[in-house]
Amino acid sequence: MSDSSELPKSEKEEEVTPEPEEQSDDSSEDEAAGDTDMDFLRNLFSSALGLGSAEKVLDELTLDGVARYINSGKCKNIICMVGAGISTSAGIPDFRSPGTGLYANLQKYNLPYPEAIFQIDYFKKHPEPFFALARELYPGQFKPTICHYFMKMLKDKGILRRCYTQNIDTLERVAGLEGDDLIEAHGTFYTSHCVSFCCRKEYSLEWMKEKIFSDDIPKCDKCSSLVKPDIVFFGENLPARFFTSMKMDFPRCDLLIVMGTSLQVQPFASLVSRVSKSCPRLLINMEKAGQVNPMMGLFGFGEGMDFDSDKAYRDVAHISTCDDGCLALADLLGWKEELEELVKKEHTKIDSQDAKEKASENKGATAKASSASAPPEPKAEE
Ligand SMILES: [Zn+2]
Repeated sequence: MSDSSELPKSEKEEEVTPEPEEQSDDSSEDEAAGDTDMDFLRNLFSSALGLGSAEKVLDELTLDGVARYINSGKCKNIICMVGAGISTSAGIPDFRSPGTGLYANLQKYNLPYPEAIFQIDYFKKHPEPFFALARELYPGQFKPTICHYFMKMLKDKGILRRCYTQNIDTLERVAGLEGDDLIEAHGTFYTSHCVSFCCRKEYSLEWMKEKIFSDDIPKCDKCSSLVKPDIVFFGENLPARFFTSMKMDFPRCDLLIVMGTSLQVQPFASLVSRVSKSCPRLLINMEKAGQVNPMMGLFGFGEGMDFDSDKAYRDVAHISTCDDGCLALADLLGWKEELEELVKKEHTKIDSQDAKEKASENKGATAKASSASAPPEPKAEE
């Protein structure tokens, strides 16, 4: 992914028009719509022109400062930007990024070069390696993490504007975020489509899973073309909604929470510079990320995160796993018990669904010991 020409194209940006849904969404929720619109315009112009006052919103550049800001009630449009790091505790392998050991294991597929497996032109001619890899990496269980449920809590409390995810594992949806809450920037396994432009028939995750685990290459039952999961391959455009929503969402954002991503893939990474200059930005990650050197700023990547300099005034880095960071923040917000309850309740539900599915799979056949593969849920202290 070192060569930017291999990244998903972004030309679509100019072609798309803003979604009309945005207007209706706002008029219904704001009593002080006039103020909000003025804020929006001010932020839009200041971020477009690189101007604007850099107001200090947090009383302290710490997780406590962020928690006090959220609890102040002034924070109503939180955007979460998330990456593979939020799903690692769910046992989901990082499907595409180099450096995860994945590319090292690709020799057996005889690829001309490792990235070919996610290249759309190669896939159309040789789909077998991709589906073999998908079978190998298919998660045994789709169980969202504490971090996913923390975002669901933000939604339930009415302060989540949107979650922008780079992940294709669908765990945000399993946790209860809906299509409108989500921008799946790199696509999703949740749906699949026939690759034929004249057909484009849609297929479900269940359908795709069955094909992946049979030895068949998924073919459209209407036109016999290939069927591909809706993940964004190299050489494909990002979903149009990524660009339309981005333009509406980021100028309105009043707290950006970046979790589990090292902010290295464009155009996703540059989103952090699209919020207003006063908008606090919290990073929860195993290492600091998003700090761009001034030269990069000149090339249009925007200014990066600043956690440590004398001029730092709005960026907070909390170095931990995403789950630990979300628990710590929930604790400071007074939400910890509620979050733990939610996780426990939802995980129990998923476990019992899995058990039911396995039971029906084994019906008629000899019951296999493999049905006990799901580890028992750790009991939360009461
Ligand atoms: Zn078709």
